[in-house]
Amino acid sequence: MSSAPLLQNAVGLENFGHSLKRVAYVFRPQRTDELPALFEQARAAGLTIGLRGSGRSYGDAALNTGHIVLELGALTRILDWNAETGVITAEPGVTIEQLWRHALPHGWWPPVVPGTMFPTLGGCLAANIHGKNNWQAGPIGEHVVQFTALLPNGQQVTCSPQENSQLFYAMISGMGLLGIFTSITLQLKKVHSSHVRVTAWTQPDMAGMLAAVDANKDEDYIVGWLDAAARGRSLGRGQLHRATYLHAEDNAPQQTTLDLPASILGIPKGVLPPLMAPFVNNFGAGLVNMAKYTADRWLHNNKTYLQSLVEFNFLLDYIPGWERIYGRNGLVQHQSFVPAAAAESTFREILKLAQRRGLPPYLAVLKRHRPDKFLLSHAVDGFSLALDFRVPSQPARLVSLAEEMDAIVLANGGRFYFAKDGTLNAERARAYLGAEALASLQALKAQTDPDNILQNDLYRRCLAN
Ligand SMILES: Cc1cc2nc3c(=O)[nH]c(=O)nc-3n(C[C@H](O)[C@H](O)[C@H](O)COP(=O)(O)OP(=O)(O)OC[C@H]3O[C@@H](n4cnc5c(N)ncnc54)[C@H](O)[C@@H]3O)c2cc1C
Repeated sequence: MSSAPLLQNAVGLENFGHSLKRVAYVFRPQRTDELPALFEQARAAGLTIGLRGSGRSYGDAALNTGHIVLELGALTRILDWNAETGVITAEPGVTIEQLWRHALPHGWWPPVVPGTMFPTLGGCLAANIHGKNNWQAGPIGEHVVQFTALLPNGQQVTCSPQENSQLFYAMISGMGLLGIFTSITLQLKKVHSSHVRVTAWTQPDMAGMLAAVDANKDEDYIVGWLDAAARGRSLGRGQLHRATYLHAEDNAPQQTTLDLPASILGIPKGVLPPLMAPFVNNFGAGLVNMAKYTADRWLHNNKTYLQSLVEFNFLLDYIPGWERIYGRNGLVQHQSFVPAAAAESTFREILKLAQRRGLPPYLAVLKRHRPDKFLLSHAVDGFSLALDFRVPSQPARLVSLAEEMDAIVLANGGRFYFAKDGTLNAERARAYLGAEALASLQALKAQTDPDNILQNDLYRRCLAN
């Protein structure tokens, strides 16, 4: 079979953080039955295939420099839906947004969602995403009833916790390196309202934030925002939001068409990015963090209100394209997952280090997690701290800070997350995943993908050796 059509479309692709610009041969299949021939064409051309959903990974998980990238975002059919049981089967390009829009009118909501509604189901399974309910609900993989996949060796398989279970637990979290999800069956969560009851309050320091998140981990959702610029005794201060589902007897709102607000504080969303741009520097971001904490502390403390599931979960979608305000070098996120007992000292240490290096994060988010059984798991019984950094004019400064922060996290038994990561290397990935998990990955890859066709830049950076 000729490889010519695949090689006609060399285009530039970026990561979500816009810190990487890479050229690849991009192909966008319209149907899953086109996929087997694409493996043949790649083999014939001596090229590897990287998979891409919506390209919302912060780092290089959906890039495959100089090789083929299959964009799977056109595979958007809902294949089966049971409004009685909330079980849905969909193609991998269906997005979280399509999913909730389809299910909410029937009283169902995705059990786990990320902070944005644009990722595809395939991308969410490959990363095994978590939400603000990770302690309660686990990662998305725990809600997958089964999936079907096409393996590079030509096999089509069905996997569930009972059937082909080793592959089930490895492909979910496996970052698209073992096969292509072709259909995904998920059990959704029954909800009695389109809204949740939210309570917001502040804490004056890191110890207070961690204790408050921990004390509320059995709520349906709990998340903390940290004032990333605070220092000294105020280091780690911030605001918490916990949310609970409403019950049928709560006489709760039942809106089926939910949208994010068109304006924020009366300002149309479209004009916000240029207004925010002057604050995307150490001084401006520090000011914004401090002003937000002060307002949260004195104006909005201990408030309880109803908010739609969409507004609560997809805060980061309020301002489309917000990530572009980080400028031409883009942004990098460093998210570390640290066991509960070590979290306070570890997070304090990495925040102080970043401040000392003159590279403070501009956004910091805290979550509670629990361990899971998936092969490349990022979770621990503890907390994660996600820090957004602007890439400076000398990116090596940030790479070296990330290396120092990684060392602190690793020394405290922590882990990292490939969907967010852009700076780990093979040695540090091995240090948290362990030789056994990596050997399992390679053994499975030798079976499913003997020619090592499925690759991406992340694989070559962190997992290939
Ligand atoms: C603003 C923002 C907020 C976020 N918040 C969270 C959060 O709260 N929690 C969280 O866990 N994550 C979060 N993320 C990360 C995001 O959920 C993951 O990166 C997710 O993988 C993105 O899905 P995607 O469709 O864009 O996949 P891509 O980024 O395009 O690809 C991700 C991986 O999926 C693989 N892949 C894609 N499709 C398939 C397929 N059909 N079969 C096999 N492998 C496939 C690719 O090979 C790649 O390795 C956030 C991202 C953004 C931009």
